[in-house]
Amino acid sequence: MKRYKNGRDGYNSAAMISPRVLLSIDYEPWFALTRRYDSLVDPQQRRDLDGGFTLRALDPILEMLGEAKASFYLVGEIGGWYPEIPQKIAAAGHELGLHCQFHRPLVDELELAKDLAASAAWRAQYHVQGYRAPMVGISEAAYPLLRDAGFSYSSSIYAPSGQLIEKSGMLELPVSTLSLFNRPAELTAPRNFSPRLLAGGEVPYGSSFMIGLMPKLILKILEREIRAGLSPVIIMHPYELVRPESFLRRMGRDVASHPLLFPFTLRKSNFLKTLLKYFPVSPLLTYIEEIRMQNAASSTPAS
Ligand SMILES: [Zn+2]
Repeated sequence: MKRYKNGRDGYNSAAMISPRVLLSIDYEPWFALTRRYDSLVDPQQRRDLDGGFTLRALDPILEMLGEAKASFYLVGEIGGWYPEIPQKIAAAGHELGLHCQFHRPLVDELELAKDLAASAAWRAQYHVQGYRAPMVGISEAAYPLLRDAGFSYSSSIYAPSGQLIEKSGMLELPVSTLSLFNRPAELTAPRNFSPRLLAGGEVPYGSSFMIGLMPKLILKILEREIRAGLSPVIIMHPYELVRPESFLRRMGRDVASHPLLFPFTLRKSNFLKTLLKYFPVSPLLTYIEEIRMQNAASSTPAS
């Protein structure tokens, strides 16, 4: 396992990449959150459940972003319903990545392989390079699969900011955690939002769960990370920025039986506005390209 040197682990502050918040939006239908429809296969029923939300939400979200650029990890079936969605995201200069074709856990590599095959055509059309696993759940066996499917990086584990890890010819740029004790020595997948992660003293503040619970504290943590020269990765969702119709009524049953879903149902448009006002942001791919260029330059022998 090779770790690129950047941020806190950096070896040369003069060559350091300018720190920024790496902003990602997992662009998924509102019903992905409930997990109730993970096994619903009928495409028309899935599209009806979305009820046009993913299309309605896009323009307001692009408007909120203004000049700022982000990574949009798209659920591929949305592009099947509304081809204008990936078109508009790419045309506005944002990075278009893959979240999955159909939202469900994809830790199992056979399930992942099937899902990757289903998105191959549109990924090729848009030169997709980045992958964010559903529920930030991935296995080590996924990396060679992703590489062979044409990806250059993934952002599918949780880990402290300032890590860019090479795995099977792929890069992994983790979603940020704050490490309360020692920084973890091993960054082996899966590293999802779990009691095990929390027990190890890692607070996954890059999750919109944490942003929903304590937006002000997360902004303070982001400020501290940036001052330390790090570029934290955070996740947001469309239904947190634009309200789906009758969202709380439709989510009520799920939130009652799984109270931990509650922070995901909170509005986060004010958080995003504050973030964009005070912090530099960029897509993940832009940052990775800058690091690659810098590593190439620093490894070129002086003539
Ligand atoms: Zn998701």
